[in-house]
Amino acid sequence: MGGKDGKPGRRTLAVREGPERTGHSEQSEPLFLTSSFRFESAEQAAARFDDSEPGFVYSRFSNPTVETFERRLAAMEGTDSCFATASGMAAIFAAVMALCESGSRVVASLQLFGATVNLLRNYVAKFGVDVRFVDTTDPGDWAKAAGGRADLLIVESPSNPQLDVYDIAALAQVARDAGGTLLVDNCLCTPDLQNPAALGAGLVMHSATKYIDGQGRVLGGALCGDEETIRGRVRPFMRSAGPSMSPFNAWVLLKGLETVGLRVREMSRVALALAGQAEGHEAVERVAYPFLPSHPAHGLAKRQQAAGCGVVSVFLKGGREAAFRAVNATRVMSITANFGDAKSTVTHPASTTHLRVGEELRARAGITDGLVRFSAGLEDEADLREDLARALDAAR
Ligand SMILES: *Cc1c(COP(=O)(O)O)cnc(C)c1O
Repeated sequence: MGGKDGKPGRRTLAVREGPERTGHSEQSEPLFLTSSFRFESAEQAAARFDDSEPGFVYSRFSNPTVETFERRLAAMEGTDSCFATASGMAAIFAAVMALCESGSRVVASLQLFGATVNLLRNYVAKFGVDVRFVDTTDPGDWAKAAGGRADLLIVESPSNPQLDVYDIAALAQVARDAGGTLLVDNCLCTPDLQNPAALGAGLVMHSATKYIDGQGRVLGGALCGDEETIRGRVRPFMRSAGPSMSPFNAWVLLKGLETVGLRVREMSRVALALAGQAEGHEAVERVAYPFLPSHPAHGLAKRQQAAGCGVVSVFLKGGREAAFRAVNATRVMSITANFGDAKSTVTHPASTTHLRVGEELRARAGITDGLVRFSAGLEDEADLREDLARALDAAR
């Protein structure tokens, strides 16, 4: 990492990037909790609205605190531009609305966040968009599904909760060949572990709710990409539709970006230890973790990611009953749908986050009833190891 060619490194950008705004020489970034901005005159108001004068107008689409967050995240992802949204789902929705129209084709992984699958299947498809799901990581299958023409490809790598790893550069090529854009949901890795734009992805999406906040407080999302796509297509949709990030949340998430690198590296270190501990336990059928040598895409994960991420998925032998016993036996971890929090979490995806995907699609996506997802937090490693041992022993 670190600076190259006199340019600041990612950790420096995470702490420093973003303009200073006021004359008070504040050290921390100011929070502009205001819905609108005043103009000196009717002429200035007109000029701000017709974009002939730069400046802030209304916080649905322009706010200094939100913009600071956007600039910082874009700098960390290595993209020209970024637009922040109210949630991760709002970011996915904005990408679809900005890039697709009736007759467009979307090729999406079946291993996407449950709400993303439902958004595409139940709503986007309703407006004449041809939504096709792919249930393998093989780029050849993606090319087949695209059939030579696709506007948008959507993938999550590693996927939540299966932790399958996709070849981002290969899928970016599939997207280019089909005349479309690859969107990568980079939620599990954060910009500290993986930069999909450098591998050819046209759009990088975040649910900032997870690692970027990192303390389970606020919702937020973002789309990063080139100026033309973000300023030219995403922003006009957001301005008209309004699923925008609140300045307060932007301020919280801005502070989150300062420490996300340290947190996700530590969480990845502990997650690798927990994955190793779970592997080979008699209650366990299989452990999914990108940096375990047993992972089918271990080599690819090591090339694509700087660390394995903070989530470990354990496939238990005893199905749903064993999974529930494991979840209920934990004492340190919180039973919650969130992950990436300083507080470790444990989730049974089939009955919670991915319930509404339905049994058939869950099976195709590899979300079994015995799958339990652990998210390593920042507690003492020894306490988490003990908690995991309790959970696995209860699942026997
Ligand atoms: C949580 C999550 C989302 C949705 O983000 P929200 O902020 O909850 O709307 C999208 N993708 C992944 C991988 C997620 O974990």
